[in-house]
Amino acid sequence: MKITTLGTSHGDHTYCRFNSSTLLETGDGMYLVDAGAPVEALLIRAAKRFEKLKAVFISHMHNDHVGGLPGLIKAFTKYPAEKQHMQIFLPEDGAAKGLELWCRAQHLTFPSLLCGVSTTYEGEFYCDEILRVSAVRTRHMMNDPERFASYSYVFEAEGKRVVHTGDLSSSFDDFPQLVKKQPCDMCICEATHYNLEAAVEELKSFPIRKLVFNHIADRWHGAGENNLRKLISRLPYPCEIAHDGDVFTV
Ligand SMILES: [Zn+2]
Ligand SMILES: [Zn+2]
Repeated sequence: MKITTLGTSHGDHTYCRFNSSTLLETGDGMYLVDAGAPVEALLIRAAKRFEKLKAVFISHMHNDHVGGLPGLIKAFTKYPAEKQHMQIFLPEDGAAKGLELWCRAQHLTFPSLLCGVSTTYEGEFYCDEILRVSAVRTRHMMNDPERFASYSYVFEAEGKRVVHTGDLSSSFDDFPQLVKKQPCDMCICEATHYNLEAAVEELKSFPIRKLVFNHIADRWHGAGENNLRKLISRLPYPCEIAHDGDVFTV
């Protein structure tokens, strides 16, 4: 699997990082985790072909993770190729209607034959000939958990397992606990909402083969990155700090 961290910021664009989106490539397919703006521009800059996109998995409905969807839909549907189809998984039932209205207000045709929208549910919810995806509920949307959901995702392909935490709550016990039982080849972990200094002590014992921090908080940007590097150097396995456009293979 090849993973490109297209946008690695923490809630707002900053001078060096755009909003959250991560591209996963396996076999001949492309998949996105989150679609923060300007996701379609970053895909164009990375010379990716839109017709290869098979699915988009939105972790939660905050703007920095979902705000680029109309632009992505426009780019995806503009020059259709044969058999092209992208399924968008949203974490809330009501979100599909909102997306449709927002697209319509921008004179974009949606839903179209080229795109579909589904609601994510816990457990294994997506499977094709290349990739299996499971969702684990997190407590990031604590303000109204009955109506609003947020998810971590587990991706399985090519005999490898990749965990993407999505945004977590302010308590690190929100980190998907299944990682403790089932080793993962790579974990892409957000680094904004909890106390990372304390979490590093917990993370030491997790069976993770490689850890990539993304969704980077302001204090770690630019010159602050050295402090983050020092902090995560305590971990017993390889760790990286993601930047926009970085590529990781697993
Ligand atoms: Zn976020
Ligand atoms: Zn969020």
